[in-house]
Amino acid sequence: MSTSSSLPPSDLPSSESAPVTRDDARQAMAALRAEIARHDELYYQRHAPVISDYDYDQLVKRLQALEAAFPDLATLDSPTQRIGGRPSEGFKPVAHRIRMMSLDNVYSPDELREWEARCRRIYDGAFDYVAELKIDGLSLSLRYADGLLTEAVTRGDGTTGDLVTENARTIRQIPLRLTNPPAADIEARGEVYLPLSAFQRLNAALEAEGEKPFVNPRNAAAGTMKLLDPRIVASRRLGMFCYELFANGAKPFETHWETLEWLRQAGFPVNPHARRCATLDEVLAYCAEMESQRAARDYDTDGVVVKVNQVRAQEELGVTAKAPRWAVAYKFAPMQATTRLRGVTWQVGRLGALTPVAELEPVFLAGTTVTRASLHNEDQIQRLDARLGDRVIVEKSGDIIPQVVGVVAAERTGAEMPIVVPELCPGCPDRQVRLVRPAGEVAWRCPETRCPTKLCQSLQHFAARTAMDIEGLGEAAVEKLVREGLVADCADLYALTTEQVAALERLGDKSAQNLMAQIERSKTAGLERLLFALGIPDVGRRKAQLLAQRFGSLAALAAASEEDLVAIRDIGPLTARRIREWLADDRNQQTLARLEAAGVVTRLEKTGPAAAARLAGKQFVLTGTLPTLTRDEATARIEAAGGRVTSAVSKKTDYVVIGDSPGSKLAKAKALGVALLDEAGLLALLAEGDRAAPTA
Ligand SMILES: [Zn+2]
Repeated sequence: MSTSSSLPPSDLPSSESAPVTRDDARQAMAALRAEIARHDELYYQRHAPVISDYDYDQLVKRLQALEAAFPDLATLDSPTQRIGGRPSEGFKPVAHRIRMMSLDNVYSPDELREWEARCRRIYDGAFDYVAELKIDGLSLSLRYADGLLTEAVTRGDGTTGDLVTENARTIRQIPLRLTNPPAADIEARGEVYLPLSAFQRLNAALEAEGEKPFVNPRNAAAGTMKLLDPRIVASRRLGMFCYELFANGAKPFETHWETLEWLRQAGFPVNPHARRCATLDEVLAYCAEMESQRAARDYDTDGVVVKVNQVRAQEELGVTAKAPRWAVAYKFAPMQATTRLRGVTWQVGRLGALTPVAELEPVFLAGTTVTRASLHNEDQIQRLDARLGDRVIVEKSGDIIPQVVGVVAAERTGAEMPIVVPELCPGCPDRQVRLVRPAGEVAWRCPETRCPTKLCQSLQHFAARTAMDIEGLGEAAVEKLVREGLVADCADLYALTTEQVAALERLGDKSAQNLMAQIERSKTAGLERLLFALGIPDVGRRKAQLLAQRFGSLAALAAASEEDLVAIRDIGPLTARRIREWLADDRNQQTLARLEAAGVVTRLEKTGPAAAARLAGKQFVLTGTLPTLTRDEATARIEAAGGRVTSAVSKKTDYVVIGDSPGSKLAKAKALGVALLDEAGLLALLAEGDRAAPTA
């Protein structure tokens, strides 16, 4: 503590040249916290760390040393205060106090009898069974402290899961408070599922918005529980059935049946079909009954869980490495039907990928008549060895599109014909366009940029109600425009003349004028719709909205780097690269330039020029979780008012907006004397701007 050779403020202190004055320490600590936060972000959000764990630990150690030397400068939000060192802004991993095990499966009554025989060999006391439906969802653990729901944790790997309490709270069946808990520490476990009706509504909505639908209700439920916005989770109407209980870490009742009874009385959702069975024959009868009623239920079940009822017997039977011996899953056969494969249609998508669709003799399966089923891709056809005329097995497992999963080879007559991938694009009838299958991809693609089918598909997408909303530009009109060579990309739509349109086959003056008016009107559809309409790979409606809010204009988006894109929540590295590649393409750039020249609105215009001036030039940094606004919403509102949101606090920062558990940005802001705002303060500032803004 003798010399005071101060460091430049931006430099990080090394252990050799520790700063000695208070001011030096303050600055060094702020810089270290900022540096650690930056590495945390690279590590957790971008999955692209730039330093080794060792170097990271050294940074933390230096900060710890400084905090030890100047304890009054230590802050509660310091990265050194967090368990494990590295905080995550995603879901916090939480260790299960009692492992969440999986179950062994059996596939036939015989296998179930073998399971019983094994149980009887190990345990010679008396026991009976409880049989329950096996819900095809995801397991969740609910923890209550003194009757209050405090934590909800996903199964994860069985040892550690993700903390998803906020999302679990949105499931209305889950009690948030227990009136008469038998212990201070209660853990209830069960299965979260998405009702089939809700699944179909969700997928229809996703498809209408140009998003990828979920493959099945289980994936939809799992994907929903991992959403960062509980309000979206709430809108999806998840359900839950509970089936396990621990009080202070132990099973509180002598039988599983009593446990279910208690859960039900305590207000937990318990599946009404659970049944106590005295013998294995009763269990088998239950399995057959449940399987036969399977298609009538509004949730997916994939079997029956059979449990030894007596806890004492359960304890004696014990567990294997991965599963309890006292319980087993009896799996239902998938819902299948056999029918004749009449033909295969190769559909060309908007991006040129070919999808083989099986044309079937109509067959009734799980409540609907099936005439088409997916064959996915060429590899799948080869795996199945499917041939035209084959009797095929079609399966439906909650999926909207049934799949061909097998061939009844024994029924072949020899007249079956191989399914041949077309060599030429079926969507390019006038040209001989060879299909390509890029290395590493499963789909054949039409490489022709002028492929009329691709073009028709993308123009229809451009004109869709959820995109630019050009009424009258349906399949037939699009095909005519493309066939006549009037339109080769979406920008050409804005160069059409009424005469050209009126001259199209069977399109009179009146409808030509209507269509022209619709096209003109679509110019003001707005940036969000435009970004979705363009058909940028991976950009559905939601991502289009995020991009519009973040960049505010097509020009700003076009100038964005891959890193800028990845910085947006919900945009991963692969999507960022695809967006970047699309934007970098010459043809696309020309299209964008011509759209702009045609007068298509390419910037966010919600707030108008007067409002945009309100916070013009002001720089904001957000840290922590705000009580009501998501980070994207806060960013959008600041940007709509003319402000800018940056990621790092610097001397140029005007305001730091602080939410719950702020990161090191708070310390940095304090160190630099930047004005601090909470959410209420931010909203007040935005409102104040409203009053102060010129009314013109
Ligand atoms: Zn083609």
